[in-house]
Amino acid sequence: MNPIDVKRSPESPAALKTVAVIGAGTMGNGICQVFAQNGHGVRLIDAQAPSLERALKTIGGSIEKLEKKEALPAGSKDAVLARIQTGTDLSAARDADWVVEAVFEDLEVKRSIFTELDRIMPAHAVLASNTSSISITEIAAFTKRPSQVIGMHFMNPVPLMKLVEIIRGLQTSDETYRATEQLARELGKVPVEVNDYPGFVANRILLPMINEACFALMEGVASRESIDTVMKLGMNHPMGPLALADFIGLDICLDILRVLHEGLGDPKYRPCPLLVKMVKAGYLGRKSGKGFYDYPQS
Ligand code: NAD
Repeated sequence: MNPIDVKRSPESPAALKTVAVIGAGTMGNGICQVFAQNGHGVRLIDAQAPSLERALKTIGGSIEKLEKKEALPAGSKDAVLARIQTGTDLSAARDADWVVEAVFEDLEVKRSIFTELDRIMPAHAVLASNTSSISITEIAAFTKRPSQVIGMHFMNPVPLMKLVEIIRGLQTSDETYRATEQLARELGKVPVEVNDYPGFVANRILLPMINEACFALMEGVASRESIDTVMKLGMNHPMGPLALADFIGLDICLDILRVLHEGLGDPKYRPCPLLVKMVKAGYLGRKSGKGFYDYPQS
């Protein structure tokens, strides 16, 4: 079925929701694209106007590629972009039915966003976070509607990756869970139910592997290329762990490791000093042009 011409059934509670996406970075622009591609009006909000401009360009480019691959019909780009309104102020989310937050992985930033969204959004609205590792129960406690707060953890790149971890906070209601699962399915994703523990499932398993690859590099066990080749050809991973870290963003990797380390209290999660040093230097991976590898910026 053509994702942008889907005829929506009025019985479907997740259908035709106006969605606000907060944060227009790596994840926010992908999440916005997927909602808009599936017929939702989207308010894309970011504190930085240049991030919004970049996001619209990225979304346009991504849809052109999908058109070329015939995954979307020719002419989709204009229709999808027409469903997206951008803004730099959270108040643009005030009449949305659903929000997905994708700002920095920082508890204080998320606290201020969720406190404000809870204040301005309609009583029926569900507040979802794309956090990689911060406790959904803790985010929910910033609001007066903890039963309507849930994790929707999309994978990068969002338009291509099928998985969404749906994370239930301690107070998330069954109704909120079911609506979120249904919405994820309507977006063409495969939802997986996960309970709220640091790193959930994906990052609890992925980040220790990436961290170990950083230690192996730091200790001179092998070169970056060798480490990545071992994991690609030896374990059949599509990308080596260091290239994957660059793709995710080294700052995001470090933030998640800190959440695992603090939340689980086990020294096995301590972030590799090389990773800490690279983030301090501003080597954040693809998005900054340099990480474990170099990425010439166009
Ligand atoms: P990013 O740094 O690419 O983008 C974050 C965006 O949030 C920036 O554009 C920034 O301007 C904006 N922002 C920051 N504070 C804001 C505020 N107060 N109001 C409005 N906008 C604000 O980050 P990202 O990689 O897209 O990650 C976003 C979230 O998604 C994080 O919670 C991260 O853990 C999670 N996540 C990331 C990945 C990944 O692979 N990068 C995967 C899954 C989940």
